Amino acid sequence: MTTQKAQATTEQEIIDIVTKQHDYFKTGITKSYQSRIENLNKLKAALIKYETEMHDALKQDLGKPEFESYLSETGFSLHDLSSTIKSLKGWMKPKCTMTSLLTQPGSSKIHYSPLGVNLIIAPYNYPINLTISPLIAAIAAGNTAVIKTSEMTPACSAIIRKIVTETFTPEYIAYIEGEVPETTILLQQKFDHIFFTGSPRVGSIVMSSAAKNLTPVTLELGGKSPCIVHEDAKLDIAVNRIISGKFLNAGQTCVAPDYVMVQKSVKEVFLAKLKARIIKVYGEEAKNSPDFARIVSDNHFQRIAGLINSEKILVGGQTDAATRFIAPTVLRDITLADKVMSEEIFGPVLPILEYEHLDEVYAVVDQLPHHPLACYIFSESNIIQQEIINTVQSGGACINNCVFHAGNPHLPFGGVGESGMGAYHGVHGFKCFSHKKGVLKSATWMDMPLIYPPYGNKIKWLRKFLK
Ligand code: NAD
Repeated sequence: MTTQKAQATTEQEIIDIVTKQHDYFKTGITKSYQSRIENLNKLKAALIKYETEMHDALKQDLGKPEFESYLSETGFSLHDLSSTIKSLKGWMKPKCTMTSLLTQPGSSKIHYSPLGVNLIIAPYNYPINLTISPLIAAIAAGNTAVIKTSEMTPACSAIIRKIVTETFTPEYIAYIEGEVPETTILLQQKFDHIFFTGSPRVGSIVMSSAAKNLTPVTLELGGKSPCIVHEDAKLDIAVNRIISGKFLNAGQTCVAPDYVMVQKSVKEVFLAKLKARIIKVYGEEAKNSPDFARIVSDNHFQRIAGLINSEKILVGGQTDAATRFIAPTVLRDITLADKVMSEEIFGPVLPILEYEHLDEVYAVVDQLPHHPLACYIFSESNIIQQEIINTVQSGGACINNCVFHAGNPHLPFGGVGESGMGAYHGVHGFKCFSHKKGVLKSATWMDMPLIYPPYGNKIKWLRKFLK
């Protein structure tokens, strides 16, 4: 079954929607705790109602196994919603902070106010999660939002459109239908914040457009995330977790370990375990495995297949263009000169490089675009773990795991340098869609004459406060 393409939103419709959202936001309706909670609950009811349709759509667009769909898309969003609903009252409360000597007597608080009208642009790889998660944060923070999903996942776009249009009015939460031309028109509009998830290339287009209106942006981008396997690592555990992180969603995960650097002394043992485990998990014919997704489009299939150097295959390498299947593939003895190291892989191909000293790891990371979205370290030594955490600048990291830092809503999730700016998840998402307003409340029971003119020789007192 293929999904019918809906008609693209016209330029005039886009202008009208954004204007109406600005007017609606100005009424203040979206700001109250009651309104936020009601709308989060409505969204939760819709996610529960349409779970099966969402899983069907994910199967259609990406061949996702139901377990992965629940783990990383619908269940993830539901958990995010439930914990946001539970915590929102506390998050909204102004937070007390210190009041400096010069600003005494008084009290100081940080208030969280909504940013206003937000544009949320989502990529194709986790089409439900990466639309719904920022939307939860936008609603929780008291905003309105316009949503644009990826044209590469039409079935998922259709179900998101259905959820949004059935649950909300367009002056509050709107869904825009379209591809690059419609997104270009959207980016010409005045928003109060743009939340973009996608490639660094398009991130740069988004940021340039936003600059014209001085619109703040949150950019959740990608890159080549290293995975370092030190000789003291528990190799069986490392192998299990690397395979699960890399081949989830057939490698189409922004935080997937892009490549592995393994210490030379354990390389052969590691490779043997990796090969045996991949065959055990996905079978001799991974094509028949019910637990392995497909590549989203013919273009991406061709691009990823073109990264496989047949002379360096340790395991996998089979492809089928008709079903956009690429087997879980490991390439051994890779160096920076190999094509697979020239771009973010974003598919089920895992290159293995070796090192003797950690300096060689840092040199490789340094020669790739700065800085990775994630860094994974497998080692039993606290000293090694801390050294790598302190040396490799990355958006996030896991010690003795892969990908799962993104599953803990208590951790900020985001990139650094070329992998993005800003962070979200849990309270960090609420803050991402809020303006942190610093408010000083000065006492009126006394007045400090020190700061008023005439200044005379008051500077000598000022020096005592400001030093
Ligand atoms: P993409 O950048 O091609 O597309 C993302 C969105 O931008 C889509 O909605 C698309 O329609 C739109 N778009 C594409 N070209 C555009 C243009 N010229 N002008 C305006 N809008 C345009 O990304 P993708 O291929 O959908 O997703 C893969 C990329 O996203 C990878 O680089 C991956 O690492 C990254 N990603 C990052 C995160 C994260 O949380 N950091 C999560 C998922 C994916």
